[in-house]
Amino acid sequence: MQKADYDLVIIGGGPAGLTAGLYAARARLNVILLEKSVPGGQIIVTDWIENYPGFPEGISGIDLTNRMNEQAKRFGLKIETEEVLSLDCSGSIKKIKLEDGTISALAVIIATGASPRRLGVPGEDEFFGKGVSFCATCDGPFFSGSVVAAVGGGDTAVQESIFLTKFVKKVFLIHRRDELRAAKILQERAFANDKIEILWDSVLTGINGSKTGVADITVKNVKTEENRKFAVEGCFIWVGIKPESGFLDDDIKLDEHGFILVNERMETSMPGVFAAGDGRSTPLRQVVTATGDAAIAAVAAEHYIENL
Ligand code: NAP
Repeated sequence: MQKADYDLVIIGGGPAGLTAGLYAARARLNVILLEKSVPGGQIIVTDWIENYPGFPEGISGIDLTNRMNEQAKRFGLKIETEEVLSLDCSGSIKKIKLEDGTISALAVIIATGASPRRLGVPGEDEFFGKGVSFCATCDGPFFSGSVVAAVGGGDTAVQESIFLTKFVKKVFLIHRRDELRAAKILQERAFANDKIEILWDSVLTGINGSKTGVADITVKNVKTEENRKFAVEGCFIWVGIKPESGFLDDDIKLDEHGFILVNERMETSMPGVFAAGDGRSTPLRQVVTATGDAAIAAVAAEHYIENL
């Protein structure tokens, strides 16, 4: 077998990365997990997770991350804060380029997940951090007693809008259709919450304000073409996610939206490179699917390394 710095490098420290790390550490692989910021990924900006089995009352994203982190470390997983700039997976030794050098591995698991998509409307960038936000857990408390807007109709928009009502006076939930995409249980809670008013068939067309922050938004009804202005102090945008796949080797095949294509063993198109979690092309993105993917990917990577 050729020599590399590590048997396995895991890129990304969300639920998929931490689970792959747990399995790889228990398999006694020489493994390192690289995370560019803090472990947890998208779940650390999720207030409450109530569909991950084993927590009948639910658990906060931060607590779940801490538990996963602790569990993986108990079996010896080494975690380092490093951003991966690029990958060269063409040979049997994979090269992972970091800011201060290159490390090598026999196998790689990509668990870099996804990040919030932007809408691209006027004011979105200008007022980011001054009223525009993608994170209710981080910014919700700043809007105590205010009126805010939220855009989107998926699980994130509906769940996080409900969370915002702990702080705010009112949430205008702006959705482009006449039906929400979110899970039915979340829809029922939103409909029953008198602080949430849904603006159906509507799109956000602009965010306006001054140096001090957001003052109002413009919203267009796509059926009537009517434009309306709403006075709000905050505007939360939850219109889906985009994969964190910019650093990948061109040889790793992606779907039409940039998510990594894998087979049932989580193998990508490059031998020795596996992918798990929200960054892979998948019909369902949940913590439970990310952790399931990761267990499969880690065991497949272990078998791949054994057979080199
Ligand atoms: P999502 O499911 O892709 O929903 C995105 C929402 O934004 C959709 O309602 C979509 O409208 C709307 N949208 C997209 N582009 C838009 C645009 N340009 N203008 C206006 N609206 C636009 O994304 P997500 O809610 O962030 O969820 C991502 C993944 O995480 C999903 O798989 C979700 O199930 C999962 N998740 C699960 C939970 C949970 O289990 N509790 C919580 C959060 C997230 P249309 O409906 O018209 O397409």
